[in-house]
Amino acid sequence: MNSERKIIIAIDGYSSSGKSTMARRLASEIGYRYIDSGAMYRAVTLWAMRHGMVSRDGVPDVDAIVKALPQISIDFLVDGQSQLTVLNGEVVEPEIRTLEVSNCVSPVAAIPQVRHALVKMQQDMGKTKGIVMDGRDIGTVVFPDAEMKVFCDASAERRAERRYKELTEKGAGVTYEEVLDNVRTRDRIDETRSEGPLRCA
Ligand code: C5P
Repeated sequence: MNSERKIIIAIDGYSSSGKSTMARRLASEIGYRYIDSGAMYRAVTLWAMRHGMVSRDGVPDVDAIVKALPQISIDFLVDGQSQLTVLNGEVVEPEIRTLEVSNCVSPVAAIPQVRHALVKMQQDMGKTKGIVMDGRDIGTVVFPDAEMKVFCDASAERRAERRYKELTEKGAGVTYEEVLDNVRTRDRIDETRSEGPLRCA
């Protein structure tokens, strides 16, 4: 495809609504780069958890995390059809997908300085276009001029079923109720934060 005609495709939506699966398949079909922006928020959260910057009940130490941001580097490694998230040189799949990280990620992602840093990285990744990026604020904040914008939703119960199946297939000892609770809590935090709230562009 002529590089001048490449576009940016922004896919936003609620957690576990199938946007990553759709974005990944679409990117592979049309030869575009796929970026899972949620993985970047998850990687920052994992780093903060490992460094004792998130309390047991999921409350982040905002000042410490903001101060540490320059020490956190995030990259992606393409591995066949899948993409592996790399945190400071370490592949952190599947650690970033656990329910423990899911339970802490939204408060970390609500910190404005975390968002500014990651949005800047995401915008740099889109400079050459030819990209499919999924997340919460891709069509509204990261690429407001994206040529194509898609928004995904489904009921919280349906999304929790999906995530529950994914997690249990990987051997995680979680209950459906725990997953549903996480989906609802993340929806609420993602929709109501001041910076880059989840909404349809
Ligand atoms: O997409 P995923 O469910 O893996 O994202 C994990 C969390 O990261 C979301 O619940 C949200 O809090 C945060 N996120 C965000 N902005 C994005 C992508 C993800 O705030 N663009």
